[in-house]
Amino acid sequence: MAETLHDNLYDFGQIQFTNYCDMKASSPRCVFCNSPSHTTAECNSNMKGRRKTLFDIGSTFMLDDTLPDFKSFPINELRFIVSIYEDFQKTSYKRYVKKYMCRYFGRKGDVVEYLYSPIPFTLTKNRMIIELTRRWRIYAPVRINHYHKRPEDNDCPICMDRMSTHTWNHFKLKWDVIVKPWLPSSMFNGNIRTLCGHNFCGSCWEMHLNANSKVEYFVNLFREEEPTGRMIVSCPMCRHQMYYVK
Ligand SMILES: [Zn+2]
Ligand SMILES: [Zn+2]
Ligand SMILES: [Zn+2]
Repeated sequence: MAETLHDNLYDFGQIQFTNYCDMKASSPRCVFCNSPSHTTAECNSNMKGRRKTLFDIGSTFMLDDTLPDFKSFPINELRFIVSIYEDFQKTSYKRYVKKYMCRYFGRKGDVVEYLYSPIPFTLTKNRMIIELTRRWRIYAPVRINHYHKRPEDNDCPICMDRMSTHTWNHFKLKWDVIVKPWLPSSMFNGNIRTLCGHNFCGSCWEMHLNANSKVEYFVNLFREEEPTGRMIVSCPMCRHQMYYVK
């Protein structure tokens, strides 16, 4: 699905995968703030008060539906954005992430390699914008999942308390379900799922059991009603009958 999606949207045949050599170290001045007193790696300049803004852009633009207007940024700010982008592609978990990226970009891995390939600080502003834009375009299937395919949160149908929610997993590039292990008000430790497939928070379920459970009887040899030892309760949503031993 993801593969046909991006094949239709973008023509990867036109992308040239280039291996740049990393020239960060060769510059005597900091390429972010142009100071001769420290190297780029040591830079802690506040980038004229824009460091936080640039950091946010570098770490989130790939998932943003609108591409930032990179043309309006000076070259040193673009370099900083590029460096933040690259921090998110850290080599240590590259192999781990690759597995998940293949879901979007196919098994061959050349697209994934391209996404990981560093953008050299020596590029002209125009080239740098081209590189950032290409990466952003390639990322479209991930953005579609991130923006438009968030699974629905699960609320208890009785009290409407949230029972589970979803968070975006930046490493696996997918939605993780977060199930609340317990609710402050719950007597039960956790939510339950009935055999008929309905979910309730622990406290509502316990209240329901206390209020609506009935003793199950059978008719014995003497035509008397005798408890079977089980309790009957119906699902509050669909009335499906369930049995349990108290
Ligand atoms: Zn600096
Ligand atoms: Zn509830
Ligand atoms: Zn049910």
